[in-house]
Amino acid sequence: EKKGINEIRQAFLEFFESKNHLVRPSFSLIPKDDNSLLLINSGMAPLKPFFAGTQVPPKKRMATSQKCIRTGDIENVGKTARHATFFEMLGNFSFGDYFKKEAIRWSWEFSLDHLKLPPERIWASIYEEDDEAFHLWRQEVGLPEERIVRLGKEDNFWEIGLGPCGPCSELYFDRGEKYGCGDAACKPGCECDRYVEYWNLVFTQFNKDEAGNYTPLPNPNIDTGMGLERVACMLQEVDSIFEIDGMRVILDNICERSGVAYGENHQHDISIRIITDHIRSITFMISDGILPSNEGRGYVLRRLLRRAARHGKLLGLNQAFLYLLMDQVVEKFHSGYPELMEKQEMIRKVILVEEDRFQETIHQGSEMLSAYIETMKSKGQQVLSGSQAFRLYDTFGFPLDLTKEILEEAGMTVDEPAFKAEMEQQKTRARNARSEAGAVGWKEDPLTILTAVPQTNFVGYDSLAVSATV
Ligand code: ATP
Ligand code: MG
Ligand code: MG
Ligand code: MG
Repeated sequence: EKKGINEIRQAFLEFFESKNHLVRPSFSLIPKDDNSLLLINSGMAPLKPFFAGTQVPPKKRMATSQKCIRTGDIENVGKTARHATFFEMLGNFSFGDYFKKEAIRWSWEFSLDHLKLPPERIWASIYEEDDEAFHLWRQEVGLPEERIVRLGKEDNFWEIGLGPCGPCSELYFDRGEKYGCGDAACKPGCECDRYVEYWNLVFTQFNKDEAGNYTPLPNPNIDTGMGLERVACMLQEVDSIFEIDGMRVILDNICERSGVAYGENHQHDISIRIITDHIRSITFMISDGILPSNEGRGYVLRRLLRRAARHGKLLGLNQAFLYLLMDQVVEKFHSGYPELMEKQEMIRKVILVEEDRFQETIHQGSEMLSAYIETMKSKGQQVLSGSQAFRLYDTFGFPLDLTKEILEEAGMTVDEPAFKAEMEQQKTRARNARSEAGAVGWKEDPLTILTAVPQTNFVGYDSLAVSATV
């Protein structure tokens, strides 16, 4: 009788509906009229016009469950228990209506009465100067002082450039010592997986002007975000978000296809978790009309897909498999997201074409590497040059560790510092190109992913053009 993700999502929306919120389905992952953002990365992102006051909201209180993509978290995915590139953010919003007191009180009420979390394991963080929030946690909720942590601007103050901004208060759940780093000073805010931040309450109460002044807003806003997968992980008492209902089936399917067991080898586990995550991102992105390409959102999609395919290779999956794994995502999530079912055949085709193309580039790369190896042998050389390794990577999407692995079999190595220098140069080139094209990031850095995408001679989706109308 542990709550599944569909139940948690529904309970959240019903709770805020009972508090007079207008419940709206998730917005698309593609931002509308907002070129400051590549992909929707929070519940508030599609609601920005209501916060900024450029549009009038249909109601002053709203609640959503929003599909989010955070490529900025990609390095963490598979390594921490709590980061995904795709996740659902449950949020309640006030556009100049209720404020801190209600936001805090309701977050507590929902955590206890509906999520049934043991109160003694909940902690709150506040912005160090936000005494109002401190008193609310103490008096309204009765949270003991020892479980209220003051954090600095870096963690608990939300602002992007100029305009509306304000302090945050986060709710943390103590998953217990076994998930801790062992440090005696470990508390909420620590990078380890013991205290999981599950809900962030943002109190948008200031306006920051060019002179750096923070002026109180006449009608402050509330913007909250709760990670559905993290809550499910806590309630279902599993080790990571990849083992919750809806994710575990995907994970098991990967194990079944590859014949690799979960929980036996650290590197394999990382690969399994990465694929489990990326296939959700890929499926949802395509269902929202994004197609693989060499720029922008399509680039992110291509990168995620190739990364998943490459981790498949590390598990011994050498044939296309992601297009089959996709069915699991559709099956588990279509009740919340009907567009998945409607677009299933199209999604399958897009993934398969891209996977096949990747297999082909990998094949071409292998041939080129074999040729390099032959030449090196004939010259009595042992170390592949950085520029050659980079060429394999850049032209054929050939990852460095694969290059190394193949070289190793021939008793050879690669000049890694030179390879990294080439990578850096390419990053700088891409960064310059992007800054000319204008900013794309907001709160995270899509550059980290965009610049790491291998270049290919992409010829287009001719074969899909007829059926892939989105
Ligand atoms: P963290 O510090 O753990 O990286 P965050 O402070 O960056 O999280 P917020 O921007 O406050 O996260 O987002 C609101 C909520 O969304 C978080 O409290 C968390 O529950 C969830 N969330 C954020 N990033 C992720 C992610 N990459 N995967 C899954 N859930 C996430
Ligand atoms: Mg984060
Ligand atoms: Mg945080
Ligand atoms: Mg946060």
